[in-house]
Amino acid sequence: MNALTDYDLAGFRQRLERWGCKSVHAERILREFYAGSGRLDLSNSQLPAALRSKLRTELPLRQSHILFRRQSADGTLKLLVGFDVGGAAEAVLMPAVRPDRAAGCISSQIGCAMGCDFCASTRGGLERNLSSGEIVEQFLQLREAAASVGRRLATIVFMGMGEPLHNLDQVIPAIRRIADPAMGALGWRHVTVSTVGIVPGIDRLADANLNVHLALSLHAADDETRSRIVPVNRRYPISRIIDATRRFQLRTGRIPTLEYCLLAGVNDSDEHAIRLAQLVDGFRAHVNLIPYNSIGAGVSGAVYERPSPQRVEKFLSLLRQRGVVAHRRHTRGDDVDAACGQLRQMLISEPDVKVPLQVLAAHP
Ligand code: SAH
Repeated sequence: MNALTDYDLAGFRQRLERWGCKSVHAERILREFYAGSGRLDLSNSQLPAALRSKLRTELPLRQSHILFRRQSADGTLKLLVGFDVGGAAEAVLMPAVRPDRAAGCISSQIGCAMGCDFCASTRGGLERNLSSGEIVEQFLQLREAAASVGRRLATIVFMGMGEPLHNLDQVIPAIRRIADPAMGALGWRHVTVSTVGIVPGIDRLADANLNVHLALSLHAADDETRSRIVPVNRRYPISRIIDATRRFQLRTGRIPTLEYCLLAGVNDSDEHAIRLAQLVDGFRAHVNLIPYNSIGAGVSGAVYERPSPQRVEKFLSLLRQRGVVAHRRHTRGDDVDAACGQLRQMLISEPDVKVPLQVLAAHP
């Protein structure tokens, strides 16, 4: 336990008791901490002096700091969050359509072991899992960044670096602190966990009864195409993943999102759209089409391209004609390398590069 962000309520109560302080203060401290975007005003506190002194000297509030902050023309803000024990992960703030809201995207691991060929996060493999405290701190950093531009962070998606279902021991307690209205106050419905399709992990997330949303990174409706771009498909083929997603839906009542990254000439043909419509026939799911964000060569050395806007529109209309609820996600922050893992990758591969640090300005 390195900082206050590592603690849930029960653990923090125990810590207070070990300090010889009354555990009743734990809830108020954590609530004030999360409501204040990860800050505690110890000078103006009604807490006992002994407890304040312990908090000042024995338990840092946070264990991370912002290494880089870059803002794109569309208002997307990309943070590279560095951790005290080493390593860095990406967190992104995206302005919502509503002028007073923002959405956040956070990472669950440093690097990723999944090897998806179009994703920058995985090119260097998995470095390590993030701790629950390190995950929570990305949320706090984004909440603070949103407040500084007059917006409220309303939703969090686990779509940054890493595979969240490979780090559930840390992701589940992190979600509890981010979403529990008694603490982080975001609300369970406002958190989405995105997965490449780890079947036992989907079931475990359903068992945890967190009531969060599930997004499945599908990218192809046939195993041959999917295995080419998502190697873990050989372990968990589409039929098993869809079964697990249906089980999740039955257990939680939440309509899953199917993410589909469109890669020109790979998974964007009329036939691919029709296969996708057939796969989701009779299954309440929302399809989210994401035009590919270029990352250069993938793990296999292949270089992908974004389909033309006309191709994306055709794909979308083929789905809709067949009754599929589908949307095209507008890509954000292209000019700040906002595709997963790109900013960190650039810093690793070119450590001498001086990334222009842009001052966070109000988004028009
Ligand atoms: N491992 C999890 C979460 C991280 S990826 C998962 O697979 O869902 C989050 C989303 O970003 C996924 O849907 C992924 O396919 C997508 N993504 C990754 N690289 C991308 C790129 N270069 N362009 C567009 N979308 C990308």
